[in-house]
Amino acid sequence: MLGGTFDPVHIGHLIGAQAAWEQLKLDKLLLVPAARAPHKLERSIGAARHRVAMLELAVDGDPRFELYLNEIERPGSSFTVDTLRQYRGSRLSEGDELFFIMGTDNLAEFDTWKDWREICKLARIAALNRQGFDTDPAEFERQFPELDVCWIDMPLIGVSATQIRRSRAAGCSIRWLVSAEVERYILANGLYAGPAS
Ligand code: ATP
Repeated sequence: MLGGTFDPVHIGHLIGAQAAWEQLKLDKLLLVPAARAPHKLERSIGAARHRVAMLELAVDGDPRFELYLNEIERPGSSFTVDTLRQYRGSRLSEGDELFFIMGTDNLAEFDTWKDWREICKLARIAALNRQGFDTDPAEFERQFPELDVCWIDMPLIGVSATQIRRSRAAGCSIRWLVSAEVERYILANGLYAGPAS
């Protein structure tokens, strides 16, 4: 599972997801859009229907990737611990392996997440290296001996959804930062064009 706001989904997510799929030898990579990320409440998140539509376009025809819409369909805040519990309870058998994948920006504050110790029991954490949050695995493991993290090797992709929204608001091109289909969708729907993005 790779959770996020995906506002919009971009190449950093997809390259990270592909690297995780290969290195963790996954059967499926689930992209899990948050209804409202608890740590992003200060900013209004783009309409869920647009974020889901862009995710569908980004993974269309790729059997490795699937959307899991539990958080969008569930009322209230999106807490990862609830999503993992729900997924384990409804879709997995005992002994099935589950990973929760996150960038090192999220990993750095993971111990502030609701029930993070419970999260670690429900899934193994896998980390994607994120520019600006360079984490030395040995140092991290010294600091958080309770966390057994799988480190994914991927090229450092200095792209964020914030940067894409800002580029759009400034009238700059977002080509190559998102897939061609996602770019077309953003332009056709006039997303992120306003100053408040
Ligand atoms: P925003 O800029 O709006 O905060 P974002 O680009 O960080 O968004 P999210 O949807 O919050 O995107 O990210 C979902 C997950 O993907 C998070 O765990 C995040 O750390 C990870 N991620 C996002 N962009 C990258 C990237 N360029 N490289 C590696 N991991 C990434």
